[in-house]
Amino acid sequence: MGIIVQKYGGTSVGDVERIKNVADKVIKTFDQGNDVVVVLSAMSGVTNDLLRLANEASDNPDKRELDVLLSTGEQTTIALLAMILKSRNYKAVSLVGSQADIRTNNISGNARIMSIGSGSINQLLKDRNIVIVAGFQGYDVAGNITTLGRGGSDTSAVAIAAAIKADMCEIYTDVDGIYTTDPRICTKARKLEKISYDEMLEMSSLGAKVLQIRSVSFAKKYNVPIHVRSSFNEEKGTMVVSEDKGMESILVSGVALDRDQARVTIKKVPDIPGISARIFTPLAEGDVSVDMIIQNTRSDSRTDISFTVTKNDYKKALEISNRVADEIGASGVICADQIAKISVIGVGMKNHSGVAASMFQALADENINIRLIATSEIRISCMIEEKYAELAVRVLHDTFNLDKNEAIQS
Ligand code: ADP
Ligand code: ASP
Ligand code: MG
Repeated sequence: MGIIVQKYGGTSVGDVERIKNVADKVIKTFDQGNDVVVVLSAMSGVTNDLLRLANEASDNPDKRELDVLLSTGEQTTIALLAMILKSRNYKAVSLVGSQADIRTNNISGNARIMSIGSGSINQLLKDRNIVIVAGFQGYDVAGNITTLGRGGSDTSAVAIAAAIKADMCEIYTDVDGIYTTDPRICTKARKLEKISYDEMLEMSSLGAKVLQIRSVSFAKKYNVPIHVRSSFNEEKGTMVVSEDKGMESILVSGVALDRDQARVTIKKVPDIPGISARIFTPLAEGDVSVDMIIQNTRSDSRTDISFTVTKNDYKKALEISNRVADEIGASGVICADQIAKISVIGVGMKNHSGVAASMFQALADENINIRLIATSEIRISCMIEEKYAELAVRVLHDTFNLDKNEAIQS
């Protein structure tokens, strides 16, 4: 017996039949004597449909009103699940973000959770209600509805689990766990029994959307164990937990792919002190977040500076770069949006060299050109042409023997 938070993603609540399947799972957990809080996404496709409607209504939809609109997707599913549970004679209450007291900052469309007042949820649980909370939403200090960015229901679930000191946060989705890479791209992908918070943070930030990155940060900070599993079977999934000794013996534990990338290069920038600040300060002021940066020194005391941004920020980054290039006397700006970032991740890399060399050689053997490279203690990322992205995932998966249980040991 304990306190369990269960989050069901878009496919798992895709129609009323599936929501009835969710009800079965919730009831099973509840009948075992657990307190259950359920966090739901919108039905799959609904958030995109709402976004399309907003873009039909206005070229530049007002951000506050967009959040009012997008939050309705989750309001639909929580009400339907509550109805189903009540019709089966279970006590259930649905709560939108403000009713669950999920307070956020005021960044519309990408708000961060500041605090959760757990009083109302706790009281409802004490009275043996099944509490059903709308994911992806909260409210700001002025009472406006806010949303947490795409995939944000994961973060709602983990944050609630931390606030009510749940014993477990179960994330039910359309795959049966975390795999060594996206199983939809690589058929040899292998399900992991467990993965450390740090590796999962890297995987999420490098494109594996199976968990929203902020949900993993919350889980790490508050030590919430996450169990990622399928809503369509009873199989055990993958535990996301603190690092343990055994984990470090595995050199590479996953490959991630991020197609949401674009590159900007400012050509022949004068190679003098302060020049990078003159380029990157206006980008930061324009709210463009820059990922990888590379500077190529040339022989004529000029340098080419390239950087990457998300496709969403691409137009703005280009506008700002063109303006700055003029101001600093660079020769021009070139760009590419058909690129992708491919990364290998593993805590074992901390104590082992040679992973980068193997990665570069494997890509070279397939004639895949590497445009940019970035590394951290536990990952290596390369920017490549998008058309090679899936091939690169499969090649690297093979190179590091990720389909085998006994993956390369350090
Ligand atoms: P939900 O709607 O349940 O939140 P998402 O679509 O957000 O589900 O995330 C699940 C998807 O994440 C899977 O269908 C899979 O294609 C993708 N994915 C990417 N990388 C991985 C990985 N390493 N392991 C498992 N799934 C992954
Ligand atoms: N419905 C939102 C989205 O599609 C949030 C979520 O599903 O986590 O991004
Ligand atoms: Mg998701």
